[in-house]
Amino acid sequence: MTAVLTREACEAMDRSDPLAFARVRFALPPGVIYLDGNSLGPLPRATADALAQQVQVAWGQGLIRSWNTAGWIDAPLRIGTRIARLIGAGADEVAVTDSTSVNLFKLASAAVALRPGRRVILSEPGNFPTDLYMLQGLCQQLGGAVELKCVPRDRIADALDDTVAVLVLTHVHYTSGEMFDMAGMTARAHAVGALTLWDLSHSTGAVPVDLSAAGADLAVGCGYKYLNGGPGAPAFAYVARRHQADLRQPLSGWMGHAAPFAFVDDYQPAEGIARMLCGTPSVLAMTALDCGIATFDGVEMAAVRTKSMSLSSLFLDLLEARLPGLFELVSPRNAADRASHVSLAHPDGYAIMAALIAAGVIGDFRAPDRLRFGFTPLYLSHADVFDAVETLVRIMQTESWRDPRFAVRQAVT
Ligand SMILES: *Cc1c(COP(=O)(O)O)cnc(C)c1O
Repeated sequence: MTAVLTREACEAMDRSDPLAFARVRFALPPGVIYLDGNSLGPLPRATADALAQQVQVAWGQGLIRSWNTAGWIDAPLRIGTRIARLIGAGADEVAVTDSTSVNLFKLASAAVALRPGRRVILSEPGNFPTDLYMLQGLCQQLGGAVELKCVPRDRIADALDDTVAVLVLTHVHYTSGEMFDMAGMTARAHAVGALTLWDLSHSTGAVPVDLSAAGADLAVGCGYKYLNGGPGAPAFAYVARRHQADLRQPLSGWMGHAAPFAFVDDYQPAEGIARMLCGTPSVLAMTALDCGIATFDGVEMAAVRTKSMSLSSLFLDLLEARLPGLFELVSPRNAADRASHVSLAHPDGYAIMAALIAAGVIGDFRAPDRLRFGFTPLYLSHADVFDAVETLVRIMQTESWRDPRFAVRQAVT
């Protein structure tokens, strides 16, 4: 093992870590190395008190008055503004609402309506399942007027033609961590008159994103992954300002109405991004999401990116030195080509991950054979990565993963 891969070397890197201050923002359980913040961000220290305050004071004492006095009604756009900073969006281009799945449906539907006569929604096979399922549901809803076409990522540029209404891509692939060139793909889509809809679920808070510079049209993203908003946190929707006035989304609920409390019979969309809203926001969930986003206060995404590449590269360097040839790397080896998680393939991946979790190193498993590890710079150190690999080495060398209890499949992997 080379000197650079010792625990002392890792500790030295941690001593000059400009993001070390952020770790205290999280209430991580002792004895756990959490490599799954890409799937469910951990609990921020501030969240429990903020929720208790909302329950006991804003709800308990304020009652219905709190819609006005505690900022409840403004939460979707106020929190959207805070996410905007992390994705290169204007303050008036993001709304927090619904789930990622629902927002994808709303925006894909709106995109098709903005490109009448075009009959193709273009995506890639192996995209995150819910994205494809929601697009299949939309096509069914449109009665065959529009079809979902999936072509492998290296052929997408060639498949763009004037039949395509919208190109729907996940910016960072959920298993491989590969990233699309957002500006390049957007330019190609625009060249044939198509719109782009980006899913930023594995990008937001993980890598620098600049929707404005990329010329992106529409985007959605997740609140419970890198944004640390809590299990099932509300998601967000982005609509470039230039499209907002013409955009009609199908879930025309009263919170997206121009005057929800006028109680008139006919729907009229609100001005601007507020038309993305549908029903009443879940205030407690919004509160937790707000605390999750606050873990990025004073943090520049460029610094997050630098440390994320350092952590994941260290992980791969250590793996190659300590367990050569045991796992197949599914993610790009070059740090610049992958986002903030790494996937390894192994035929016994499920049991190995189960054994790792039992030993306090929490990653996750993605069928059919992928072990997935997220590297989240706000609370992970290089020493954590070193210790996680040592645990994996022990499990592989002792073959403790062969214990039958690690073969029992759970509902959520
Ligand atoms: C996590 C994730 C989602 C989640 O969608 P939900 O509606 O919150 O279940 C959607 N798309 C991608 C690409 C994801 O990674």
